[in-house]
Amino acid sequence: MCGIIGYTGTKNNAKEVLLSGLKKLEYRGYDSAGIAVYENEKINLYKSTGKIKNLEESLSKNTSTLNLGIGHTRWATHGVPNETNAHPHKCGNVTLVHNGIIENYLELKQDLILKGTEFKTQTDTEVACAYINEIYKTEKNKIKCIAQSCKNFRGSYAFAIIFDDEPDTIYAVRKDSPLVIGVGASDENFISSDISAILNYTNRYILLEHEEFAKISKDSIEIFNSNLEKIEKEILTATWSSSEYQKSGFDHFMLKEINEQPKVLKQVFERYFSNNTYDQNIDISNYDNIHIVACGSAMHAGLVGKFLFEKYALIPVTVEVASEYRYKNQLITNNTLVIIISQSGETADTLAALRIAKQKGAHTLGIVNAVGSTISRESDITIYTHAGPEIAVATTKGYASQVAVLSTLALNTAIKKGLIDKTFEEHIYNDFKNIQNTISDVIKNYEEEYKKVSEYIYKHDHLFYIGRGIDNAVCLEGSLKLKEISYMHSEAYAAGELKHGTISLIEQGTPLIAVATDEILFEKTVSNVKETKARGSFVVFITTRDLEDKYIKSVEDTSGFFDIKLVLPSATDFTQALVTMVALQLIAYKTAILRDCDIDQPRNLAKSVTVE
Ligand code: GLU
Repeated sequence: MCGIIGYTGTKNNAKEVLLSGLKKLEYRGYDSAGIAVYENEKINLYKSTGKIKNLEESLSKNTSTLNLGIGHTRWATHGVPNETNAHPHKCGNVTLVHNGIIENYLELKQDLILKGTEFKTQTDTEVACAYINEIYKTEKNKIKCIAQSCKNFRGSYAFAIIFDDEPDTIYAVRKDSPLVIGVGASDENFISSDISAILNYTNRYILLEHEEFAKISKDSIEIFNSNLEKIEKEILTATWSSSEYQKSGFDHFMLKEINEQPKVLKQVFERYFSNNTYDQNIDISNYDNIHIVACGSAMHAGLVGKFLFEKYALIPVTVEVASEYRYKNQLITNNTLVIIISQSGETADTLAALRIAKQKGAHTLGIVNAVGSTISRESDITIYTHAGPEIAVATTKGYASQVAVLSTLALNTAIKKGLIDKTFEEHIYNDFKNIQNTISDVIKNYEEEYKKVSEYIYKHDHLFYIGRGIDNAVCLEGSLKLKEISYMHSEAYAAGELKHGTISLIEQGTPLIAVATDEILFEKTVSNVKETKARGSFVVFITTRDLEDKYIKSVEDTSGFFDIKLVLPSATDFTQALVTMVALQLIAYKTAILRDCDIDQPRNLAKSVTVE
């Protein structure tokens, strides 16, 4: 993970560009931060642990105008997050920042120690820096020196590198970890892990591809391919504007992004169902089986997709976490579709899984938010979720838009196969048409309920979520949301599975959030809830208006099985997961507020996981 930023130019002050860029990149990691700038005819390093604001404070007295610098916000993989291990690292002539992991760093370190290098940090990055410095002693062509060094690095990297003897130029290379080059209008250029960090200055950028090298000065950008031949690259224009990166009056980005969901979902359904305008012509009705591969919340979105594809399009689907899928026997046939889901389009494990699936002959379909990201470029077909920039580390609208895309895909496929009758299709279409109002209703009209639930659960150490079918998939995501931002331990279980072991953890007062929105499974889930209630659980029961009317209001005996009830709008299977999820997001958000947690940047996490 981690964020990289670099500036060379005379139009702006490098220090300002680096700090503003690092703040935008903070979602990628926030263990420590640092910059290296050319100042008083030498390269100076400034570092702080923790958030960028600490670095900013330590630099507040520095008023000089600087023309060159590189910066880094770290998500530590090798070595504790202290000031020494913070990037940039400097060895001799070479100063660099790194995103990724040099897997063979211990082996390289031994060799360098024998040659007399002294190491100050525990990081793999310092080894890479020392290695490049060692090669530079004999190979003075800097691109060749970097290329020769990289040949000996195993793992993943994006490097921004400066040399003492060329203090107006930034060199860069990447393998697996992302980098873009920002093209300034005149007298300046930039480098960054993603375009968001430099949108205040330019929206024109070049994507540095896997194993390409760049030499960037204030008035020229040269790119070299892996054979070190100079190549021409297209200059792209970013469509996201810098205003989309503001909190716009909300207390947190997460709350802002939750509130953006009605609009985002409306757009997805309009684009991909009403108009059926996928970015490419897509017909997946002939595949024998689908593998959905993703990590974290994206994997949970995949579970909703599995349910819909299997129930309505009659295609068998497996859903696996990418870190497992990439190392197993994938059993891909020539009629397997592999769906790869990633908000950032850069998730290291997911990208590796995509490459393996392609190597093995699978057809691949990427569901991605970040336009132009590696997964979007390497998938055979890409469907963009068009959720806009997501800043909060815990995903909300990113996840929702993935579910919505999967819903339209499953539905369009089922229609193509003649499996949905006209009346049902109309019904679903109405559901899609009303999505903006429905989701707004869930956000705005349940304040009292969310408050009651969060005020009960925030004092507890453990929490359980249960549900069946699609509700189980949603519970997994709801539970992850709570863990991520409130640091409470929670587990999501298939409602019928709890009794096979985990029910032993239920004690007097243990909170349990039960979701029952599927009529066919309603009574089964209620029985499972009662099993926990009999053992003392405090039950938050989430259901729909239709089911409440039919099963709860009319049956006296049901009154005792829950402590708090949330009755959400009724929807079809194609949107119900979204309705429920928004309620679970708000419960997690409010609970985390009561626990005084860092909502947008929870500890130990980073948004775009670009390491294995
Ligand atoms: N492996 C490097 C470190 O631990 C870089 C991690 C990152 O990508 O932030 O410092």
